[in-house]
Amino acid sequence: MITNQRELELAFESPFSEAEELELAAELLAISSEEELDLFLGKLFKGIGRGLKKFGRFVGKKVLPALGRGLKAIGKVALPIVGKALGSFIPIPGVGTAIGGAIGTAVSKALELEFSGLPSEEAELEMARRFVRIAATAARQAALADPRTDPETIANAALTAAARMHVPNLSAVVRGGNLEVGDTIHREWHVNSIQPRQSDQEAFLGDAWNSISTGARRLSGGVINMLHDCTPIEDRTSFAPKDKRKGKPRDMSKVYALVLHQTAGNQRNTPPDRYDGVTAHFVIKPNGQTLQLHPLTARLNASNGFNAGSVAVEFAGNFPDTRGKRYVYPNGASPQGVLTAEQIKAGRCLIRYLVKNMGLTHILAHRQSSASRENDPGPDIWYHVGQWAINNLGLRDGGQNFKVGSGNPIPDSWRTWGKAKQPELGEELFV
Ligand SMILES: [Zn+2]
Repeated sequence: MITNQRELELAFESPFSEAEELELAAELLAISSEEELDLFLGKLFKGIGRGLKKFGRFVGKKVLPALGRGLKAIGKVALPIVGKALGSFIPIPGVGTAIGGAIGTAVSKALELEFSGLPSEEAELEMARRFVRIAATAARQAALADPRTDPETIANAALTAAARMHVPNLSAVVRGGNLEVGDTIHREWHVNSIQPRQSDQEAFLGDAWNSISTGARRLSGGVINMLHDCTPIEDRTSFAPKDKRKGKPRDMSKVYALVLHQTAGNQRNTPPDRYDGVTAHFVIKPNGQTLQLHPLTARLNASNGFNAGSVAVEFAGNFPDTRGKRYVYPNGASPQGVLTAEQIKAGRCLIRYLVKNMGLTHILAHRQSSASRENDPGPDIWYHVGQWAINNLGLRDGGQNFKVGSGNPIPDSWRTWGKAKQPELGEELFV
């Protein structure tokens, strides 16, 4: 039974079940050579790959090896057992290794703090579990990478985001002016004979501790969407009313979900400025045009109990429930909205974009947090966008009975809705 935000976050921490994670952690602790560690990482990646159907060629051949090097370097520093197994492991000169080692040092310090009260054997197991989580999350992030990006860069960004996500003390340890960590980072640049330009070092630090918020800034800055086959998001953040943004900008490491909504309004392709007053971070128009109205850091009163940890997207249109019934306004009006293929595609693009830039892990329905929003977003949007993300990207919706406040769980009928008549949108995930 999930009763509050923190428990919700904890429940969702690992891509594996608790049993799987424990098994993998135990296996990791039994490793005695570099070859065994390679085999272990290979198996772990394969497990993640299954969840995503498959890894593309680019990810398998270029990104995962870079990720493996970074993970080994992290493991060497943060896990005593792995450190011993890799006693003779000479870091391969490369940015991935240097960053892996630097994160490893920070991770190790943060975890030591976190588990300082535990007997050493238990602490070791907990650290191994955390390593498994970091590896799994990083692999999943890396799997969504754009093939036009440098593999080392992808691996580094994925590792830093994953470490940041799964080690709560990490930022504090680094920001706390821990000289030793700073020194280590410096030494490792040196050991690996990299003479980084100042901008590389800055980029590294930026990546390591701000990857998520940097992504958020980039997104709200309206930089062209780099995803293959996706149209750019139109930036309306300077036009939408600022008083909808409540409180201080959010800590993006605590924002993990996208909540799907339908406007229940008309489905005409009205000009973008007509949507500025909508209370959502994004609006997807019938022609697939995606508008960003508020920065991801803005807390909006859009999704009831989900507001703190989520961003909201509204699909423009009045869409039917499973019985074909649509919302009827007090004056009797009931626009006859039909979800378009362009909206489905834009919704999927938005999710991929948020996974990549915000570390999105969950997809939710407004229905789950509000009794009065039973058909929000409705079966069509849920099946073609939400369920698609669960089946193809490994995102989670909280599970069968999950709801908060007065909300209702996702009906089973939504999860399988339209299975037989899913529009053929082509292989857009791995190109
Ligand atoms: Zn809603």
